[in-house]
Amino acid sequence: MKLIASRAAVTKADIVRVSGLARTTVDNALAPLFTTGAVRHAGIRPAVGRGRPAEELEIAPTYGVVLVADCGVRAAKLAVFDFGQQVLASSQVPIDLSRGPQPVLDDVIAGFTDLVEKAGVADAPRTAVIGLPGPVDQRHGAVVRPPLMPGWDGFGVVAALSEALGCQVLIENDVNLRALGEQRVLSEAIGPLVYLKCGTGIGSGLVTADGMLLHGADGAAGDIGHVRVVGSDDPCPCGNTGCLEAYASLRALAGVDDSEGEASSEQVEQFLDVLRARDARAVALLRDRAPAIGEVVVSLVHVLNPAIVVVGGAMAAATDDLLAAVRSVVYQRSLPLATRNLTITGPQLGDDSGLYGGLALGLEAAMEPAALHDRLAALRPGRRRSR
Ligand SMILES: [Zn+2]
Repeated sequence: MKLIASRAAVTKADIVRVSGLARTTVDNALAPLFTTGAVRHAGIRPAVGRGRPAEELEIAPTYGVVLVADCGVRAAKLAVFDFGQQVLASSQVPIDLSRGPQPVLDDVIAGFTDLVEKAGVADAPRTAVIGLPGPVDQRHGAVVRPPLMPGWDGFGVVAALSEALGCQVLIENDVNLRALGEQRVLSEAIGPLVYLKCGTGIGSGLVTADGMLLHGADGAAGDIGHVRVVGSDDPCPCGNTGCLEAYASLRALAGVDDSEGEASSEQVEQFLDVLRARDARAVALLRDRAPAIGEVVVSLVHVLNPAIVVVGGAMAAATDDLLAAVRSVVYQRSLPLATRNLTITGPQLGDDSGLYGGLALGLEAAMEPAALHDRLAALRPGRRRSR
């Protein structure tokens, strides 16, 4: 199913060749995919040279839907996708992560219910994916010690959502989802990929050359916001001083005092406005601090030897100066071998990288053998009745 979805093999003969399996094995594997409606015939591919014309296969868009919620601090982007990777409906709902998990998850569930109705979807979703701005514990389906998210530590997000939505739920860090979205949209599998998110906070998502997210032992891989900046002693909400986030994030540039709460987001918005208007002082401040972000990317480049570094987030969207500064520091400071094939670029999917990363996770989970077995089992009682 993954071979067909990625278009790596779209005919039976292709699948036999690419997978190295016997033709009868491939026939046996395809049978339940037709039974569940996951795969369908897509017409005849004309013969090439002396070959015979072959029947092409495709993932049936109608196999079901995947729900994705990409949650930021103040808003969640929601979308319903079909299996043809088309958006059936989408919305943005205001949330407030500081109110704790239950009110936020209620808002997300209500938003999904509206969208599913708008899209005219009758069946339960195949999978749902939620992205949250904190380190994620995959085993317990929860976020772990997320800063600025009181009440969330260890809360069973996956358990609560799967009960409400009636499907398998996956949880992922928001920057990891962006990294995955940007990696999956590349025309060929290139990696490793680093997604750098510079906004209210600073973080990164890492995808290996095999297309796998790098979580680390405790879900904290890529959490670069608390790397020490040489020469800085700015206090950070994490308790340390001199963190990258306390020196060069939007909160830092906008001069946010962390005791101010609600007023701080307005300050960040105001700073973004003057930055977009190319206010000389704002641009000068950014140019002064951005090289510190570049220095941390240099370290990542030497550790991971990425093929691509994507510079995203609200700061990157507001001005090209950030991308320019990161490029300049990385090319100056990295050893030539590490940058020989390195591309440093903005996000191809803009602000939607996270939604498409969620879609990739949700689709791939629905294509796992266990999920397909569940689907077959769900269909069986109906067949027995009809006999
Ligand atoms: Zn810190």
